[in-house]
Amino acid sequence: MSSPSASEWSQQLAVQSASPQEILHYYQQQIAVKEPVIQGFTEVFETPVQSQQSIYSIPLALKDNICLEGYRTTCGSKMLQNFFAPYQATVAQKLLAAGVPIVGKTNMDEFAMGSSTENSALKQTRNPWQTDCVPGGSSGGSAAVVAADEVPWSLGSDTGGSIRLPAAFCGLVGMKPTYGRVSRYGLVAYASSLDQIGPMTRTVADNALLLNLIAGPDPQDSTCLPEPAPDFSALLGQEIKGLRLGVPEEMLSQGIDPEVRQAFDAALKQYAALGAEIVPVRLPTVPYSLAAYYLIATSEASSNLARYDGVSYGHRAAKARNLTEMYVNSRSEGFGMEVKRRIMLGTFALSSGYYDAYYLKALKVRTLLIQEFQQAFEQADVLISPTSPCCAFPFGARSEDPLQMYLTDILTVSANLTGMPALSLPCGFNSQGLPIGLQLMGKALDEARLYQVAEAYEQACRWHVQRPEMAGQTA
Ligand code: GLN
Repeated sequence: MSSPSASEWSQQLAVQSASPQEILHYYQQQIAVKEPVIQGFTEVFETPVQSQQSIYSIPLALKDNICLEGYRTTCGSKMLQNFFAPYQATVAQKLLAAGVPIVGKTNMDEFAMGSSTENSALKQTRNPWQTDCVPGGSSGGSAAVVAADEVPWSLGSDTGGSIRLPAAFCGLVGMKPTYGRVSRYGLVAYASSLDQIGPMTRTVADNALLLNLIAGPDPQDSTCLPEPAPDFSALLGQEIKGLRLGVPEEMLSQGIDPEVRQAFDAALKQYAALGAEIVPVRLPTVPYSLAAYYLIATSEASSNLARYDGVSYGHRAAKARNLTEMYVNSRSEGFGMEVKRRIMLGTFALSSGYYDAYYLKALKVRTLLIQEFQQAFEQADVLISPTSPCCAFPFGARSEDPLQMYLTDILTVSANLTGMPALSLPCGFNSQGLPIGLQLMGKALDEARLYQVAEAYEQACRWHVQRPEMAGQTA
């Protein structure tokens, strides 16, 4: 049996058939039973952080790269293990103002670099569907705690797929909104031209509801768009007859697992049955998107992570004979392998003599990609693809080979490079019972359309009502 969705809880709160205290108590029990196995939280607060009560007083978990004033913000790193946020992220402030209680912070790949959450320096988070498998990453903790029913909703961040990939691996709905739709004030930066915060939920309706609570302009973040946020639920329930779904051929030739391909083809049939028009589109630059992403993301990361020098933030080495040694030792001790690899790669790509060949080339690929997506959106209202070429994999299966790990992002990075919104929703299971994700990509600012198209499918197929066995365990 699965517990009510956030929207259902909210309705109960509105008619007072449940109280915020009861709901909180319910989830505290869920956490007590499941967290010892799942390990999705870096910290569960003894008393949730809450500023008032409302019809949205439903427990939420925050990825541990989002600042909650006075609380630890580790980013899954030894570097920030003892860093307490000195101010409130805008999304946290908005949630608290809306009456949402924040119950804890969730585990992640160190500094959001990774696709499995195995790069966390703190703990290993398990996939509730199969606990010997990874939950996906980098927002693996935020996905696992929702899939296991420890909370009904959470926030993640997505630089190259980190909301959508764990959503796919854990059978959830995850949205990366348009670049600039949600304020990043108080989000620890990974790659600033790509990072976005977004909601992770079990249902499409919950996702739209949570985006409504966090989106909109913010004077504290100059990259946040000035457009007021619309009601993201506005199109839910409207039929999708006549809408054009574009299938990018190039995305289907990227080594997709046959079972994922099968589920994707079945989803296309379902959409056709719902009256959507399926049209082929071309995105010839997609095969270069992963290379461009890993150059741009690492370049920006090498710059953003320069601030961790042992002076103003985070870990400082105990032993050093001079200033340079203090920098070197602090960074050597504080950062993990993957973070170091990225800093080296990014520093190299930006270095004089190589800048034109790598970083600048990647920027050109990015521009081409944006143009091709804009053209594709002249033929289609929404683009559709699998979210990932594969399903959740066992611990260790890809962690020794960084390229294998990077390849899981092949279908998600384009939305970050173009800035366009994209979501993942469940579209079935493989023969081992692991969830498969379907990705919908939209025009800039077209999130409400994505929710409409996603919900039509969700309601027709109802994959979301299937829950992992362990989610049904009660105290
Ligand atoms: N897996 C990708 C990376 O490691 C995406 C991470 C993310 O979206 N934060 O860069």
